[in-house]
Amino acid sequence: MARYRGPVCKLCRREGTKLFLKGYKCYGARCILEQRSFAPGMHGKRRTKLSPYGEQLREKQKLRRMYGVLEQQFRITFAKASRKKGITGENLLRMLELRLDNVVFRAGLASARSSSRMFVTHGHVTVNGRKVNIPSYQLRVGDVIGLRDNEKSRKLGAQTLKQTESRIVPEWLTLNRDNFTVTIQQMPNRDQMDVPINEHLIVELYSK
Ligand code: SF4
Repeated sequence: MARYRGPVCKLCRREGTKLFLKGYKCYGARCILEQRSFAPGMHGKRRTKLSPYGEQLREKQKLRRMYGVLEQQFRITFAKASRKKGITGENLLRMLELRLDNVVFRAGLASARSSSRMFVTHGHVTVNGRKVNIPSYQLRVGDVIGLRDNEKSRKLGAQTLKQTESRIVPEWLTLNRDNFTVTIQQMPNRDQMDVPINEHLIVELYSK
């Protein structure tokens, strides 16, 4: 399970927007983008007009980086999304939203998707009572995500839930703070997915 290991704030600077890859730091004045809102590198301050292809590419990179998915896995996800019924762009976003690491993050059991991924790979998370340590695991309606029944997992979960208390849990999820469980209530529709992306550009990019 490969993942990006380089500096993450550079990714936000490249995309010119906050991708929220560092948890709490992203919400305060310590966010690098507050001080250096230009692209990294020697020519980062240069303004260049993007070609239509450039716009499509940047949108794809933004989405991919937001969810911490590498190129090959992203392509595979797109291929699966295009084979499903419905609108391909929405299917793609839904598949990314229904990843186990994303749901753990959205529910507030982790401060960022990267820590959520670690939480899952370290075996703290269960799905319908069984341990699952695959971050890309696709969840379905009715699945119940919980924490392993041991002191360490529950302590970590309680700590993070307290820190992310102010975060709004999406309406397609139900969080039970007492027993640390999250239930997938329904498939999220486009309005319920808080993803500031123009997914049509990504579909156009891969349709070439
Ligand atoms: Fe991006 Fe967060 Fe770094 Fe800000 S602090 S640049 S939002 S990763």
